[in-house]
Amino acid sequence: RAKAAGKGRYEVFEPAMHAAVRERLELEADLRRVVANECRDLVVHYQPIAALAGRRLHGFEALVRWRDARRGFVPPLAFIPLAEETGLIVAIGRHVLETACRDARGWQDRLGRPLSITVNLSARQLLEPDLPRVVAAALSDSGIAPESLVLEMTESMLIDDTESTLGRVRALKALGVRLAIDDFGTGFSSLAYLERFPVDLLKIDKRFVDRVGREHDESPLARAILGLGAALGMRVVAEGIETEAQWTRLRELGCELGQGYYLARPAGLDDVERLLDAELARG
Ligand code: C2E
Ligand code: MG
Ligand code: MG
Ligand code: MG
Repeated sequence: RAKAAGKGRYEVFEPAMHAAVRERLELEADLRRVVANECRDLVVHYQPIAALAGRRLHGFEALVRWRDARRGFVPPLAFIPLAEETGLIVAIGRHVLETACRDARGWQDRLGRPLSITVNLSARQLLEPDLPRVVAAALSDSGIAPESLVLEMTESMLIDDTESTLGRVRALKALGVRLAIDDFGTGFSSLAYLERFPVDLLKIDKRFVDRVGREHDESPLARAILGLGAALGMRVVAEGIETEAQWTRLRELGCELGQGYYLARPAGLDDVERLLDAELARG
């Protein structure tokens, strides 16, 4: 009887389990095809980053999307974790890096001044001994100055400060690129890595930005991160600014740079070019 009941339960769950497992396997197979197909179904969108004071355009963050025939528009959080588990992120990340550097070169020429281009790195990419060579090639193929390229990492990637991680980050830094800590303040409580790694920028996570500019809110964490940035000589970027009140308050608090839906959503090349034309018209 127990066996029968157990079997019955198994049969109840089986179809749902099968569907989830099948969906994952299909996603993985499709993602492998994307990579085998030179990542042609991936689209890189760009979100502008501007000075909070004066709104002068500082640069763009590259954010990848997957345009799939059957699934439609797939956001990064729906496939980046799987890409990391399977190692496909190495090829995807390289594609995004090369595309972003090439696009940025065109925009810099059009605008007649340097713009920063920010690219997210995943932990898996940092494990590749090849990474500094891949980044050096993206720089020389596109012709952008190394200082224009900002590589974003998360705290969890740097907390494991093995010799190889430290060595690879230093090798990247030696190319002249800049390093940013993404989602700052949401990872680990240890700040010791900030002294060991050559970090240039801190990005205040949206969850802290959300608290800024509300009535009676002194946004202690955003302030603390700004203080930390100032003490360590790092520039600070606020992420996910959605309202004018947040923009204004962060500027008053001394935050230099910001990005968010208030300024612009991530968008394709046509929108970027319109934005560059507006920037040129402003002089
Ligand atoms: P992230 O690096 O922290 O990027 C910021 C995310 O916040 C983006 O989501 C962006 O569209 C969104 N965002 C920007 N401003 C606002 C705002 O005002 N309000 C709200 N609600 N959201 C805002 P997205 O594009 O969906 O990307 C999610 C995450 O996926 C990224 O978080 C990043 O960790 C990862 N990702 C995206 N592209 C890549 C990539 O090429 N490589 C790797 N390794 N990860 C990537
Ligand atoms: Mg980012
Ligand atoms: Mg990120
Ligand atoms: Mg972030």
